[in-house]
Amino acid sequence: MADAAAGERSGKVVIRNVGLMLSGDIDRPILDADTVVVMDGRITAIGREADCDTAAAKTVIDARGTCLCPGLIDSHVHPVFGDWTPRQGQLGWIDSTMHGGVTTMISAGEVHLPGRPKDIVGLKALAITAQRAFDNFRPGGVKVLAGAPIIEKGMVESDFRELSESGVKLLGEIGLGSVKAGAEAATMVKWARKYGIQSTIHTGGPSIPGSGLIDKDVVLEADADIIGHINGGHTSLSETHVCELCERSTRAIEIVHNGNERVALAAARAALELKCPHRVILGTDGPAGSGVQPLGILRMIALLSSLANIPAELVFCFATGNTARIRDLDCGLIEVGRAADFVFLDRAQHTAGRTMLESVQLGDIPSVGMVMIDGLVRCGRSRNTPPATEIAQVVASTS
Ligand SMILES: [Zn+2]
Repeated sequence: MADAAAGERSGKVVIRNVGLMLSGDIDRPILDADTVVVMDGRITAIGREADCDTAAAKTVIDARGTCLCPGLIDSHVHPVFGDWTPRQGQLGWIDSTMHGGVTTMISAGEVHLPGRPKDIVGLKALAITAQRAFDNFRPGGVKVLAGAPIIEKGMVESDFRELSESGVKLLGEIGLGSVKAGAEAATMVKWARKYGIQSTIHTGGPSIPGSGLIDKDVVLEADADIIGHINGGHTSLSETHVCELCERSTRAIEIVHNGNERVALAAARAALELKCPHRVILGTDGPAGSGVQPLGILRMIALLSSLANIPAELVFCFATGNTARIRDLDCGLIEVGRAADFVFLDRAQHTAGRTMLESVQLGDIPSVGMVMIDGLVRCGRSRNTPPATEIAQVVASTS
């Protein structure tokens, strides 16, 4: 199961006996349904079992009363090539993260490539190559949206058009290259937007050598689509300035694992107080100096729910439907027509919480019992989370 089997299709899949259906939609986080039907990787029906056409399924999964949640999306990672990170010299980090419930990852720049080119032809070539390579190779089945160039001085509008026409749809974190601030950054963000390329700005103190401080005024002036790691990666702006960014910008508020946890709570609370919880999205910012975090997104969910006092069913939306909508992805929601990317969750054995949601609100991470991507089972009981009280089982499978 090292990579997605090329061309393998799920056929008809029925998932029944779901105890809790999390939609990913922050306006309606829990669905009144116990069954999902999938055809060739897409959701075709959601409802009560008696109301769904469950006949002639190739695969039937008994969720055994556990929770079905859209696969988690890590909005901020730094992949390089394959399932390898030179930053910590580790192999298998993407597959391991799939065991933490993540089914889609979004690159904020392939910054850790040894000898990363910084000339304009070279950075464009790297972005196009990374986009293609991860399009063709999915470690553990995970969809890695990569090819996020770090912009440098001297780029002109036609560079953005060429990148877009070549399939590049993301910019790496603004501020990690020579374009740091001011009108230059704002102009490049506008060019990117014009050609359908989404931009993210590095927020806070420097991360890697060569990066610098990006303060609130720079973030506001650049007006990138995503306020990348608003809680710092690692060093954060002050809580006051972070709350001011939430209030004065309308862009996505990205909170990451590898940032300041106290400011993470403040940013989430500010978004709720401003009545814009749909702007909050989650990432890890790994691999980085803090290592790789296979459970990073689940840990963020438990952190925000327990310490910022946000109902767990809403926090799950930060890592699923919110990100899908802001980034225009076809996954992240349990909705007809969407990709059948799911994580089956249950309360960990011996948690104090009586239900999965209550256990998360008490600060425990939930257990992953199964992960499915495009309707295909990618793992059963996770090797990384604590053991679940109950796990989903494949009860019938015909080929
Ligand atoms: Zn980053």
